[in-house]
Amino acid sequence: MEEKEQSKKTQQDLLNELHPIFRWRVETILSTLSAMGWQPKIVFAKRTEAQQTEAIARGASHTKTSWHVPSTIGVSAASKGFVQVVRGNAVDIVDRRYAWGGPAANKGFQFWNDLGTAARANSCEWGGDWKPKKLKNGGYRDQRDVAHVQMKFTEEPPQSSFTV
Ligand SMILES: [Zn+2]
Repeated sequence: MEEKEQSKKTQQDLLNELHPIFRWRVETILSTLSAMGWQPKIVFAKRTEAQQTEAIARGASHTKTSWHVPSTIGVSAASKGFVQVVRGNAVDIVDRRYAWGGPAANKGFQFWNDLGTAARANSCEWGGDWKPKKLKNGGYRDQRDVAHVQMKFTEEPPQSSFTV
């Protein structure tokens, strides 16, 4: 199927890009926020590698290994001597009235806090919890990505790291 242009995707198209478990959690997060009077909207689900490169260029992301990009794969330690392949999904959610402007330009804006609370309550990670990165010059870079919600999942059995 031909990939729709990003700007033409409906909320349903974006939800359909997600892993079923993550999608179910994102729907719960959206309805929690709507019930609070917010007008949540998914802006990005999947990104192509080109879109991710563009997001880094405009400062919206700091990593090439983003869970927005379907080809991203991680490896994590499962139990002693075992590793597991990890995949993930991510969405960026904003209030449609503000997006990242007006009061939402402030990372302490209440919508972002409510999004973080709803994400954590649904076993997802919230980009607003990212720790600042220490720079070589001794300063820090604020890496908080307050619209970002992600989830990692492992569906393959753990592999012994000694049998490659
Ligand atoms: Zn994101």
